[in-house]
Amino acid sequence: MRKKIVAGNWKMNLDKAEAESLVDGVVKLSKDLPEGVELVFCPSFVHIPMVKEKISGIKNLALASQNCSKEVKGAFTGEISASMLKSYGVDYAVLGHSERREYFKETHEELAQKVDLALANDLKVIFCCGEVLEQRESNQQEIVVLEQLEESLFHLSAAQFANVVIAYEPVWAIGTGKTASSEQAQEIHAFIRQTLADKYGDEVAQNTTIQYGGSCKPSNAKELFANEDVDGGLIGGASLKAEDFVAIGKSY
Ligand code: PEP
Repeated sequence: MRKKIVAGNWKMNLDKAEAESLVDGVVKLSKDLPEGVELVFCPSFVHIPMVKEKISGIKNLALASQNCSKEVKGAFTGEISASMLKSYGVDYAVLGHSERREYFKETHEELAQKVDLALANDLKVIFCCGEVLEQRESNQQEIVVLEQLEESLFHLSAAQFANVVIAYEPVWAIGTGKTASSEQAQEIHAFIRQTLADKYGDEVAQNTTIQYGGSCKPSNAKELFANEDVDGGLIGGASLKAEDFVAIGKSY
């Protein structure tokens, strides 16, 4: 069965004390997570060692970075490499978040480089894709998502895909309070899975976790997660409260 992954993207939020308190709260509340569900913390880089220490040895809790450099090493001031992240025990790298694409102008090609470096350093990838409002309104969502997958992921082998999670995030639903309807989510998740089947075969398609992201919260998680092709969520705002984040994880 596919793993259900609920990842909490803290973005650029939380100071040291707030971050510690949030991890402690999640650890405490998440003792009876449903079988097959994993909660993933995606803190800012500075909090990574602290989160790692607090979750070390706890089943079903894992750690992700929100980004990694497209460069291997060297004179790239301010950058953090995939190999550094691996050396701190990070499990996943979130790549291609719409905020990175929009504000930092990350291109398909750069994302492909990041994906390759993450995988080469034994990090799993949570790859974000999704359309903006204008594209949804003109029914372009499948074309947009297909291009994002083709340009940044489809150079990978089927074996490499075992370490890839896809997060479908309609940009118009991120941080806006607007959520894709359950039907809209299922429709595009099924499209993504069929696209994977066409490219890599049924086994890869059936084994790939496809998360939904975009104003997911305890009150709508159950309905979204009830869909056959929705395998958890990438959660922004609601991951900053331990009770809400864990409640979403328990929505299976
Ligand atoms: C996100 O940042 O990936 C996200 C889904 O944010 P929010 O849950 O706040 O919409």
